[in-house]
Amino acid sequence: MKYISTRGKVAPIGFIDMFLMGLGEDGGLIVPETIPTVGAEQLKAWSGLSFQELMLQVFSLYTNGEIPEEDLRKLVEDSYAGFTSPDVLPLTRIHDGLSVMELFHGPTFAFKDVALQFMGNLYAYVAKKRNEVINILGATSGDTGASAISSVRGKEGIQICILHPNGKVSRVQELQMTTVQDENVLNLSVNGNFDDCQQIIKELFADVPFKTKYHLRAINSINFVRILAQSVYYFYAYLQLPETARASGVNVSVPTGNFGNIFSGYLAKKMGVPIRQLVLATNENNILERFIREGVYKPEGFRSTHSPSMDIQIASNFERYLYYFCGENAAEVSARMERFKAEGQLTFDAEEVARIQRDLTAHSVGNEECLATIRKYDEQYGYLLDPHSACGVAAYERAGDKSEGAFVSLATAHPAKFDEAIRLIGIEQKFPERISELFDKPQRQVIVDNSKEEIAERLVDFYRVSQ
Ligand SMILES: *Cc1c(COP(=O)(O)O)cnc(C)c1O
Repeated sequence: MKYISTRGKVAPIGFIDMFLMGLGEDGGLIVPETIPTVGAEQLKAWSGLSFQELMLQVFSLYTNGEIPEEDLRKLVEDSYAGFTSPDVLPLTRIHDGLSVMELFHGPTFAFKDVALQFMGNLYAYVAKKRNEVINILGATSGDTGASAISSVRGKEGIQICILHPNGKVSRVQELQMTTVQDENVLNLSVNGNFDDCQQIIKELFADVPFKTKYHLRAINSINFVRILAQSVYYFYAYLQLPETARASGVNVSVPTGNFGNIFSGYLAKKMGVPIRQLVLATNENNILERFIREGVYKPEGFRSTHSPSMDIQIASNFERYLYYFCGENAAEVSARMERFKAEGQLTFDAEEVARIQRDLTAHSVGNEECLATIRKYDEQYGYLLDPHSACGVAAYERAGDKSEGAFVSLATAHPAKFDEAIRLIGIEQKFPERISELFDKPQRQVIVDNSKEEIAERLVDFYRVSQ
């Protein structure tokens, strides 16, 4: 198995090189040359596997033996040892028609831990094995940063810098990032929004001499390893259904912003998981809904919502979907992305929209609807949703055909992480201890302007270069 770019100008590379490259050097996104498929028999044989065992199976299809099995097993086991649920990602029944898969039992209480705990360990493994300097650079709307920092803090051979939009992340997210005192962590708080942060990261990664000199490594969902790790929970969700229910397949409602969470589902479906509907749930930043419903991919005014981790306009992983939509034709993807750059939008004709709608359905959830959903599920089912998970559940409620297949909605964060929103509806919650203790710790961060040059200077001071 080799990896190539959606723009077609990266020579095929192996698994570890792909992991280290992050964004393609031609500006495209990295994808596998072919997606391995898992037949129905094989899938059946995997039922009953733990999440960790399933992950080992799925990754083995992608790693080309570059990581010996016993090493991979240890990486996987270490990565999920800090999850507080014995099932790692428990599936909780809400009512007959709906279960919620809780992806938030990791160290930072959000689903990003599922992929990033593994990636942190993988970076440390590669640093040691190849004697590589690893300087991680990432942008966050809140959860990615906390999770990435947690995954590599104090690890030998790794420096990590995370950009977050100043004042635009939740209090708990900010504390999770900035109360870490390890010397290998730098938090830059940028006067701008998440898209500004992401744009700077994209430009720094596109600057190949800079990237090469400082060995820049990505943690954002531009990294295919993150997508792959997330695809495993779609297998897990499906395989946890009672065997009688599996024949009808599973519908999944997915809170998404950067198109990462949902693209992982699309990948799982391509690999063979019988997913019927993939329901894309967004908040009021609804570029993806407009793309799916109207065939217009066009960023519009940014809105702050109760689900800040989904306050995103330009969705990094959109290009991966576009690649498969274009029949894996890299020249066509390049042409369309050039057009997007020049015109600020992409449009799709009626036949294309029909095709998109066979893959995905979409619902954007307004702020009021989000809060109303939290209230309703608390009152009727005694289940407290965080605002991101509530978008997923609200989209499930609005989804069309529910007659066939079980419905699973992905719960992407613990409600304590977004207490600001929960308090708006008068619900008081008890914080887990790992969150309440954050409030007493000193913070470390540097506030910077929305300037690529200023940020590059900070990085030059902070990162190590190899001898
Ligand atoms: C990151 C995040 C999302 C969206 O994930 P994408 O990778 O952007 O699709 C949803 N919910 C929470 C809580 C998140 O942290």
